[in-house]
Amino acid sequence: CGVFGAFTQNGGPVLEDVYLGLYALQHRGQESAGVAWVDDNNAIRTQKGNGLVHLALDQEALAKIDTRCAIGHVRYSTAGGSDPRNIQPLTASNSRGSVAVAHNGNITNAEALKQYLENRGAIFHSLTDTEVLLHLMAHQPHKPMIDAFVDSLRRLKGAYSLVMILDGKLVAARDPWGFRPLVIGQRDRIIYVSSETCALDLVGAKALREVAPGEVVVIDKDEIKSIRIPVQTKCHYQCSFEYVYFARPDSILAGRSVYAVRKALGHCLAKRAPCLSANMVTGMPDSGTIASMGFAEGSTLPYEKAIVRNRYVGRTFINPTQRVRELGVRIKLNPIHDLIKDRKIVVIDDSIVRGTTSQRIIAMIRAGGAKEVHVRISSPPVCFPCYYGIDTPSRVELAAARMNIKELEKIIGADSLEYITVDDLVQAIGLPRNELCTACFTGEYMEGETQDELEL
Ligand code: 5GP
Ligand code: SF4
Ligand code: MG
Repeated sequence: CGVFGAFTQNGGPVLEDVYLGLYALQHRGQESAGVAWVDDNNAIRTQKGNGLVHLALDQEALAKIDTRCAIGHVRYSTAGGSDPRNIQPLTASNSRGSVAVAHNGNITNAEALKQYLENRGAIFHSLTDTEVLLHLMAHQPHKPMIDAFVDSLRRLKGAYSLVMILDGKLVAARDPWGFRPLVIGQRDRIIYVSSETCALDLVGAKALREVAPGEVVVIDKDEIKSIRIPVQTKCHYQCSFEYVYFARPDSILAGRSVYAVRKALGHCLAKRAPCLSANMVTGMPDSGTIASMGFAEGSTLPYEKAIVRNRYVGRTFINPTQRVRELGVRIKLNPIHDLIKDRKIVVIDDSIVRGTTSQRIIAMIRAGGAKEVHVRISSPPVCFPCYYGIDTPSRVELAAARMNIKELEKIIGADSLEYITVDDLVQAIGLPRNELCTACFTGEYMEGETQDELEL
């Protein structure tokens, strides 16, 4: 998912900027979009809908609304399916005030907390893990809202990058492990919070800094205040897959350019698994493009843009059924036949999940007359599900978990298939290993969480 928030410290509307911010974060979720804002009476209002931002929301109407504080969300469902009640921001109000929350990530102990809360009378309206947070806050009626909020965060495990409206203020929070990104920006006297810097660029804001792991940031008309979530952690777990695939290449995460990391991954791959007998390198559009340019540089093979993508088709992975997913690749991609005929080709992609994309594209390239098709993947094999907010399927559906590389090579129909290692990945990102989550590659989940426990 993607989240975005804005607060103006000297008046002037911000809702259209939130709309535009979501537009720049569209790659983080295409299933639904929503915004929430504060009206003149400090009540919270929302507009939400299914599908892409421009279909779900009415830009013209939003642009006319005058508000000092607004948040938004684009949804990519990991928990809760596509029921309209699950569209964020979620809202709640009681005599102490109103809150709206937009969440990126996945709370791993949500089910246990939900049981606990239901035993004490809570009635849940959505199927999202996010709603647990609102009930935890409601169960501390004696405290000021912000204190109830910070105390509730203390009980959560897993991944949350949040933007909220709370007491008419813009509040941002990032889990103590720092799984998902969250950054603060500024333009004049408007303060923004965004999943990625690319959305700050769009609204003309400068990135000030990231919300630190374990930090709550409260933005009101006078100041930006920082509170620590009282949780001790052994290390950070920034998601390495954001660099590989999820984030937009024009974003900067933890001071590293996503584009530069993808290029470096391509270089690593060329060193690790060169394919010098080939005639050319190409990338699976769009997710393999940048790594394939790095591979070409590193291997000195010529680069060609040999596979063309219909740019009006969304990411195939997002489509829910296997059937749609299979058709999706053909709807989306087509090789340039003159370029591939009678040639030996290296195709780079960022990852193999179920194996459908590789299988289809290799068949297509062969049908176009290629002599050999070698596949190189710019991440290690994805062998384990993610429980921290990226929707990788269960182990039985993960191609690299079900079979070894040689078997997978055969299934996808490649002449050869090679990956980089986890060490290569860590090195290309350039952050210390103990600051990165690599659980979907290694099965090492955070602080002793085991897969059996997480599967519940
Ligand atoms: P497959 O066809 O093997 O199931 O999926 C691989 C393709 O899905 C790759 O091209 C990758 O770019 C893309 N992909 C899209 N979304 C995701 C995601 O959430 N997780 C993973 N691992 N890959 C994804
Ligand atoms: Fe990212 Fe993989 Fe960790 Fe999930 S398991 S947070 S996708 S690195
Ligand atoms: Mg792809």
